[in-house]
Amino acid sequence: MAVKLTREDLFRPQGISNVNDKNKNIYVVIAKPTRVCNADCSYCSSPPLEEMGENWEPEWNFEKFKIYFDKVFPYMVHGATWIWHGGEPMLMGVDFYKKTYEYAKEKMLEAEKQIFFSMQSNMLGYNEKWKEVFFEIFGGSLSSSFDPDEKNRTIKGNAQNYSRVFKRALDKMMDDGFMPMVIGTYKEDTAHMMLDMYNWSLNRGERSFPLRFNYCVPIGREAGELGDLISPETYADNLVRVYNQWIEDAPNFTITPLDQMLKKAIGQDGEGHCPWMKSCGGKFINIEPNGEVYNCSEFSDLNSEYCFGNLNINSMEDILTSEQIKLIKKRTAKLPLSCMTCEHFSECEGGCARDSVLFDNGLYGKFYYCQSWKMVYARIKESVLLGQADKILEKMNVNIEQAKYFIKTNLNNHFSEIEIDWADFNKNGLNSKFGFAENNKNKQLFYDEKGRNKNIDYDKNENIFLKEEENKKIKINRKLSKIKVVAV
Ligand code: SF4
Ligand code: SF4
Repeated sequence: MAVKLTREDLFRPQGISNVNDKNKNIYVVIAKPTRVCNADCSYCSSPPLEEMGENWEPEWNFEKFKIYFDKVFPYMVHGATWIWHGGEPMLMGVDFYKKTYEYAKEKMLEAEKQIFFSMQSNMLGYNEKWKEVFFEIFGGSLSSSFDPDEKNRTIKGNAQNYSRVFKRALDKMMDDGFMPMVIGTYKEDTAHMMLDMYNWSLNRGERSFPLRFNYCVPIGREAGELGDLISPETYADNLVRVYNQWIEDAPNFTITPLDQMLKKAIGQDGEGHCPWMKSCGGKFINIEPNGEVYNCSEFSDLNSEYCFGNLNINSMEDILTSEQIKLIKKRTAKLPLSCMTCEHFSECEGGCARDSVLFDNGLYGKFYYCQSWKMVYARIKESVLLGQADKILEKMNVNIEQAKYFIKTNLNNHFSEIEIDWADFNKNGLNSKFGFAENNKNKQLFYDEKGRNKNIDYDKNENIFLKEEENKKIKINRKLSKIKVVAV
């Protein structure tokens, strides 16, 4: 029987450590048994294929699951996670999850290897019959979606209906002892509501729920929009606003990505989290309803350019040695110079490859939300060192002095050439919202107003690998993003 997630678990270190077997390298499988959905949110990044120009909507059944699972499971590490995703995965029905879990359990016993199951769903269909599945199979590891503006998430075009059904389902789940993470996706004009969302959860006291704040991307139903839908600065400003409140209140719920970023900054995060994985290539995989395999759900939402293969046709050996996976894996060694030399590199790892491609910077280019991560990591490190995060660190059962030592040692090592003026920092805090570079003893200025390092010639140094990509003709054509290849 699965052990149910508790509030304490939320604050523990996460991820996987000590993975030695190079042949079993997959930490996370995102499995999309269907892309059909019972909602029609305006910015869905993964809408049904029919809507994207296909006239056939594939869907898994138990037999399909067995074929896919038998192929993928041997390559998963012990402790890996299989996340049911969609579309709306609950539309597959309770029996699908019971049968697939029974099958997986047998295989896990045979192999003496445990993996965990989880679900990302809108939860609109939650009722009594899901309780056992959510407890026994998912151990309460569940997440759902809601935005405080209550405009873009809709059922048959009706936002009020979505809100009503979602809130009823959330309350019923909490009555049943679950604590789903509520994921919101924010745009420029709704970002200020991150704090409202935080306050909503906070004011629920014992019935609060963990939160996740995502940036909305121009993809899926939002494809074709020009540029970003929320600027890196707006996203970061609001994350930092919420972070400051969260560390002061130290409530009984987490906020992602802030919790993961805090754990990463103090050395408490294992492997297997994105977008803090420069080496995500081949460690995550996403399986589409038609069996196509991608690096992750984000890459599958882009187009079929980076498809690794199809489980109906290809072996896992083929898939894991495909040209596309090799290209993505190379990002580790081909990151921009400004990332390799960045003071937050050991935490941020150069951000997300998909978002670098999505915003036309190429597979080896700059992560578009770089400025956001710089601002958030800078504030996290500052708050820990100045003792402002003590309450939340206590909640995480972290040794506060060790956490401070970890951050300070990393910074001293990074800035060995220019030396940080710690006396000035302890008195005045950070001189720049992007990091510690500007607290140096020689009072040199490093960052421009966008957080770019003034000492790096970006034009010269950032685009060497982009050129290589262009030559291979793998640059994304946005118009192609509406076309997906469906294997029959
Ligand atoms: S490409 Fe980005 S979203 Fe996908 S696994 Fe890597 S870091 Fe995560
Ligand atoms: S914060 Fe920006 S420069 Fe630093 S590693 Fe991340 S993406 Fe690169």
